[in-house]
Amino acid sequence: MKIDFANLGKAYTEHKLAIDVAIEKVLTNTSFIMGPVVSELETNLSNYVGVKDSISCSSGTDALLLAMMALDIEPEDEIITTPFTFIATGEAIAFLKAVPVFVDIDEETYNIDHNKIEKAITPKTKAIIPVSIFGQVSNMEVINDIAKKYNLAVIEDAAQSFGASQGGVRSCNLSTIGCTSFFPAKPLGCFGDGGAVFTNDEELAIKIKSLRLHGQTKRYHHKYIGMGGRLDTIQAAVLNEKLKNYDIDIHNRNKVALSYTKQLKNKVVVPIIKPNNISVWAQYSIRVKNREQIQLKLKEKGIPTAVHYPMPLHLQECFKYLKGKKGDFPIAEKISNEIMSLPMNPYTTKEEIDYITTNLIKIL
Ligand SMILES: *Cc1c(COP(=O)(O)O)cnc(C)c1O
Repeated sequence: MKIDFANLGKAYTEHKLAIDVAIEKVLTNTSFIMGPVVSELETNLSNYVGVKDSISCSSGTDALLLAMMALDIEPEDEIITTPFTFIATGEAIAFLKAVPVFVDIDEETYNIDHNKIEKAITPKTKAIIPVSIFGQVSNMEVINDIAKKYNLAVIEDAAQSFGASQGGVRSCNLSTIGCTSFFPAKPLGCFGDGGAVFTNDEELAIKIKSLRLHGQTKRYHHKYIGMGGRLDTIQAAVLNEKLKNYDIDIHNRNKVALSYTKQLKNKVVVPIIKPNNISVWAQYSIRVKNREQIQLKLKEKGIPTAVHYPMPLHLQECFKYLKGKKGDFPIAEKISNEIMSLPMNPYTTKEEIDYITTNLIKIL
C-alpha cells in the first residue's frame, strides 16, 4: 500500500468541476484582485465562524502581522506565546521587533499551559497569542480572564484550527482577534497562500482592512504603514467552493481520528481532546520513543509520517538573541522529541487506518 499524507490531490478531484468553474469565472472576468468573489468569501467566513468581521489576507503569517499591527504592537512590547508551534507565530512577533515571551505547554493538549501565563506577565506585556495546535483550541475562557485582568489583547493563532470549536463557539471567534491560514495542507486549504483575520471589534476591523491595503483609507491616501496583504481572488474562488463541503471534511477527519485512537490508545500516547472542544485534526500526532527508527520502518511500508515540530522556538537559531536554552521549557522539549504525525485527511480510508496501525504496532 502507498498512503498519501494529506491527499491534496483528492481534495481537488472530489470537487473538480465546481472549483474549475469558479476559477474560470475569475479568469474570464479578469478580476484578479479583490472584487465580489473576495467579498463573498468574507461574508461566508463571517457566517461560518459567527463573527462580525472577516478580513481575508495573503497568508496566516500576514494575518498575525496584521493583527499585531492593528493593536499597535511596538518594538520591545512583550507578547506571550507557546514555544511549541510553527515558526511563524514567534517570527511574526519578532518581525515587528516585539519580544516573544515563551510559556511552557500543557502535556495533554500541547497548547500553552494557561496556569503558567500569569507568571510571565510584566508591565511590557501587550498581548497573549495562544496557538490552537493540531486543530484544538486552548482554554480560552481562562486565557481571556487573565487578559482582562491585565488589560491585554488575545490573538488566537488559529492557523490549524479553522472550524474547530470550544463550548459551541468557533475558533477565530474566541478572542480579541483570530488569525487563520488557508495554506494547502491546513484543514481548510486553498491552492496557494492565503489567510484571514477575524474580529468582533468594528474599529479593529476597519484598521485591519486598511493595513492589508498599504494602510490606505482612500485611493493613494495612506493613514498607516501597512502592507500588500490581499488574498488572490482565484484563491477566494477556491475557498468559496471548498467551504461548502468543509463540515463534511471536519466530520470525516474526526472519524479518522476516532479510528486511530481506538486502535492505538493502549500502545502509544494518543491525542487528548478536552470535553468542551471539537478539533479539526490539522494533525493526528502520537508520541513514541525511537521516532526516527519508527518513521524509517513505516516509510518502507509506504506509510508517510511527519514531525510537527522537532525543535521548540526557544531553541531555534533565529531566536538565539533571546538567550533561550535547553531545559527552559521541559514539556515543550519532551513533546518535540516524541511527537510524530500520522497520515490525516478527510479521505483516509478504514483500510488505510488498519494498515497503518497494524504496521505501527508491529514495530513499536
Ligand atoms: C501554518 C501556520 C502559520 C502560518 O501560516 P502561513 O499561511 O503558512 O503563513 C502560523 N501559525 C501556525 C500555528 C501554523 O501552523
